[in-house]
Amino acid sequence: MMTDQEIEKRLAEIFAQNYELLKMEGGHALTEAGQKDAFNQVLYYYRKLKEVASKVTDTEVKLTLPDQKTPDGRSFTIEGIVDIVREEDEVWMYDIKTHDPFYVMANKHLYEKQLNVYAYIWENLRGNPLDHTAVISTVIPDALKEAESVGDTARIQKELTKWEPVIEIPYKEDNVKDTIHDFALVVDNIEKHCFTPPPLKVLDDKIYGTNSKFATRICRNCDARFSCSSFREYATKLQKSGTMNFKKYYEDFGTDAEQEEFINASIDLDKINSIPELPQ
Ligand code: SF4
Repeated sequence: MMTDQEIEKRLAEIFAQNYELLKMEGGHALTEAGQKDAFNQVLYYYRKLKEVASKVTDTEVKLTLPDQKTPDGRSFTIEGIVDIVREEDEVWMYDIKTHDPFYVMANKHLYEKQLNVYAYIWENLRGNPLDHTAVISTVIPDALKEAESVGDTARIQKELTKWEPVIEIPYKEDNVKDTIHDFALVVDNIEKHCFTPPPLKVLDDKIYGTNSKFATRICRNCDARFSCSSFREYATKLQKSGTMNFKKYYEDFGTDAEQEEFINASIDLDKINSIPELPQ
């Protein structure tokens, strides 16, 4: 059996291999600091959740609800991936999310719908028992990140203990029909190319249970923001109020040092060094 130290060393090797593969596939490189942050996320997630991970009996279970119909008559299938832990006389279903735990806690209703459908498939279509459903939030808390950045071992341990990444979400199968209908409406909207963004007020308001605005928390990570009329309206409003320089927002590539680090990370030195010298 591997020791904790050996497992963490192996994690570092797998992470490095995955990173190289993703870099080749996607053509995007991370700076050294970005790679360190990403690996820390994996490492602390493992340290915190290794007990749950070691108890998982069914990994990455694919749940499928085929042959559904939208109001406009389109066919669609709902699919999800979950992990199952069967221990003693209890069965837990875990859905892994990259959302922070405070957001999940404050917006449980958003996760409940999805888990209800998975629970319905697991219990009714597959005939399996189920006692609990939960979301596992993989985001490392800011306090733990800070402790890590200054290398304070005692604080790291304290923050690791405080961290609660497993959030139980009680499921109610009575709402499954409504949830499937919601999915169906989304399918029809996508197929009809109806992608109207939410109004400016939604972007300007704080997300329930958090201190962040929709625009900063959600839009900032949205690839469609440069062509989104609501986000443009939001950015224009901030520019007029002097809070944001629109031009700077389009040209925000980071500091000179960050730009240089990013360029270096993207340069394939092995390839450059292997170019044969030109004959004199
Ligand atoms: S920027 Fe993206 S997330 Fe924000 S409103 Fe537009 S489409 Fe939605």
